[in-house]
Amino acid sequence: MNFHILTLFPEMVMQGLNTSITGRAVQQNKIGIEAVNIRDFSRDKHGRVDDYTYGGGAGMLMQAQPVYDAYQSVAEKLSSEARMRVIYVTPQGTPFTQSMAQELAESDELVLLCGHYEGIDERVLEEIVTDYVSIGDYVLTGGELAAMVIVDAVARLVPSVLHNEESAQTESFHGNLLEYPQYSRPVEWHGKKVPEVLLSGNQKNIDAWRNREAVKRTRERRPDLYERYQELSACKEILMQKKLHHMDMIELINRGRAILVGRQDHGEKGTEILLMDGESHVFFHTWIGNDRKADESAADRQSAETILRRMDGLCKYPVEVLSLHQREFVPVAEELGYGLDMECLQAVYTRREKLPITGLYRTDGGVLENGISIRPLTMEHLDAACAVYHTVDDPEYMRGRIAKGAMYGAFIDGQMAGFMGVHDEGSIGLLEVLPEYRRRHVAMALETYVFNRFIEQGMIPYGQIVVGNEASGKLQEKMGVCFAKEHVFWLSKLRDWSLEEATSAHVGGGL
Ligand code: SAM
Repeated sequence: MNFHILTLFPEMVMQGLNTSITGRAVQQNKIGIEAVNIRDFSRDKHGRVDDYTYGGGAGMLMQAQPVYDAYQSVAEKLSSEARMRVIYVTPQGTPFTQSMAQELAESDELVLLCGHYEGIDERVLEEIVTDYVSIGDYVLTGGELAAMVIVDAVARLVPSVLHNEESAQTESFHGNLLEYPQYSRPVEWHGKKVPEVLLSGNQKNIDAWRNREAVKRTRERRPDLYERYQELSACKEILMQKKLHHMDMIELINRGRAILVGRQDHGEKGTEILLMDGESHVFFHTWIGNDRKADESAADRQSAETILRRMDGLCKYPVEVLSLHQREFVPVAEELGYGLDMECLQAVYTRREKLPITGLYRTDGGVLENGISIRPLTMEHLDAACAVYHTVDDPEYMRGRIAKGAMYGAFIDGQMAGFMGVHDEGSIGLLEVLPEYRRRHVAMALETYVFNRFIEQGMIPYGQIVVGNEASGKLQEKMGVCFAKEHVFWLSKLRDWSLEEATSAHVGGGL
């Protein structure tokens, strides 16, 4: 991922970002950071880039032309296929959050425009800016510090920038909770002892203590976050009534990615819940019945329509994707412009123990006799993977998954024999075995590998099997996976026809 900072003070941003973790990531070519001096594009013989504002008022304004030319110098270098965002840092923007950092980490190229003086001529902003972002409700003298904050927060989410992958997963804001208190040596300092449980070596008790402390700290320090945490916990309790059928939504909450878009209680007819995945912006709707089920009555349809309408404007990607958990509401979504893409079975691996890998594969790059080695796919495998994958016909989607480190390849004699991955909304899928390597347990090895990675990270592996895909169904049975009785329905619609060509969002998966 590359950051391009358009600024009047390039040395300020480069000095700051070339140190510590971001500096190391640049040196290791995991990210690229360049500062472009807007002043270099001034056409004024004295190098001026600002002028008085029309209509009077204090202060100077940065002019459109040098800003535009500085932007063009970056845009011209980039491939037209790169996923590019142009952010103007401004106190008038959307407040920057951890989930926004996660979303921005999906881009290939991030251009950050720093204002100075009174800001920048509106006309150039209209032409080049895709996002307006503020780092807080206060006014800085310039955008450099804001740009550095954003680069730092986004860069550390780029795969492998942080050495310990997990440290980006369990931090503050994950699941609407602040992080628990932490301690290091010595055991006693200034008469204060490290809590006993942390020295116990019992990981289960340690995790439970940390969770309790995180909840307590969030309630005390951030009541606004705590309220969201509570709302989602209540939804999770309801979803647990039909656990297998709702594992996608439950895991979204467990993994700290769920945003509650709507909840409607229907008395004896149950509860309706609409979640959005904060990362992929995929929506998930269900109506969990009590004694009576939701039906196709006008009242039920009207309620579903009202809640589904809340999706409007929330998805930032060109394709809006919706997963419905009851067939009854497919026509309602169709009336809202969604088309049904597929019907799936939810398959969940419910056990907590890792699967044995003996004889299946090695992960250290070594190969067993006639065996399989598994490692993440890199861009060099993109074309080969796209050429054989049967469901997603969008190379951009596959490219995004590889860039995220979410695709794993099985290799035999150095050749890619198959691959599997994690969809952008968190389900496992994208499984394909090349014809010449079939019947050699490649799929089993891949699935075992991916399941075990999930279990190691405390997540429940689940996937969606397209109804009728018997080969996949059989494999899942062998793996000991449980199936939900009810189906899940994947629908999608293009958000904006003018964006027809940019289809980077998830368009439905399937194991
Ligand atoms: N006149 C502008 C206004 O009232 O919105 C403020 C201009 S400020 C003095 C100069 C520059 O600092 C802005 O153009 C912006 O790039 C940056 N800036 C200031 N405060 C910021 C904040 N809270 N978040 C992001 N950028 C900020």
